[in-house]
Amino acid sequence: MLAPKKVNYREYINSYEWKNKGRIFIKRVGRRCQIFPWIKLTKYNIHHCTYKNLGQEKWNIDCIVLSKTAHNLIHGWLAGSLTVIRVSEQNKNPKNKYPNILQKIIHTYARIVGILLYLSKFI
Ligand SMILES: [Zn+2]
Repeated sequence: MLAPKKVNYREYINSYEWKNKGRIFIKRVGRRCQIFPWIKLTKYNIHHCTYKNLGQEKWNIDCIVLSKTAHNLIHGWLAGSLTVIRVSEQNKNPKNKYPNILQKIIHTYARIVGILLYLSKFI
């Protein structure tokens, strides 16, 4: 197995590679939010469930497709905050490290919805 490359987050998130990956991921789910699948997306957010494969993300393992509302929910209320906070901010509390239990639960739910959305394209 290849040793993981050190990826600069800010540089990567602004890269063509990342933006193109997002376009591929959103097609996988038929342009639906994986938390609120009744929302047909025009704009979308690609959310990292984990950052451990930064630069080598796989859809539904490392990343999921979300509406802005769902994304804000994960980084706000579910992060234990009334406002949207960064993961680095959340991680300042050692008892609330990302992903916390609520975030893990919603990631699991979103992955199941993701599979259903993916499969529903073939029926
Ligand atoms: Zn996110």
